[in-house]
Amino acid sequence: MPRPVQYNTNVKMVEIPEGYSGEGFYATSFDKVIGLARKNSIWPLPFATSCCGIEFMATMAATYDMARFGAERMAFTPRQCDLLMVMGTISKKMGPIVRQVYLQMAEPRWVMAVGACASSGGIFDTYSVLQGIDQVIPVDVYVPGCPPRPEGIIDGFMRIQDLVHNEGLRRRNSEKYRELMESYGIK
Ligand code: SF4
Repeated sequence: MPRPVQYNTNVKMVEIPEGYSGEGFYATSFDKVIGLARKNSIWPLPFATSCCGIEFMATMAATYDMARFGAERMAFTPRQCDLLMVMGTISKKMGPIVRQVYLQMAEPRWVMAVGACASSGGIFDTYSVLQGIDQVIPVDVYVPGCPPRPEGIIDGFMRIQDLVHNEGLRRRNSEKYRELMESYGIK
């Protein structure tokens, strides 16, 4: 006898953006719709070098399941990704590689430094370890912890979603953004 089909009745719909609605119409601004779509379809690129990467594996597994946020499509192809998640100790030798991966990603792109090592070098205040990836690329969200628990990584991811949702479409063409890129030697 076939098993009865179990429907998931807990599906939650995202809230519609602010706008005006009436009978048969709904109007909002273009960047709110784009923000809504982008924030719920982020493609992360995990750049994991050490222990924080293990926490990330737990974050992707069944219990925490980041797919619930529309971000199940992990990729190691920078051109297809829009969120660089750097997890683990980054040595000075590895710095240029992180930067190269960042440069290969298309705009708009966001960066998350996961854990103490990626954010500040962590406990490794040594000659060989980069004291934070923000020395080589701009970072949008820092997740504290050594390692951060999956809840912390998910919280950081949700902060990224807030940024993605609220970013104006013209930000990447603004003078301020250009200055930020130039401060990292990126044209
Ligand atoms: S922050 Fe802690 S857990 Fe994460 S990579 Fe560094 S030493 Fe490992």
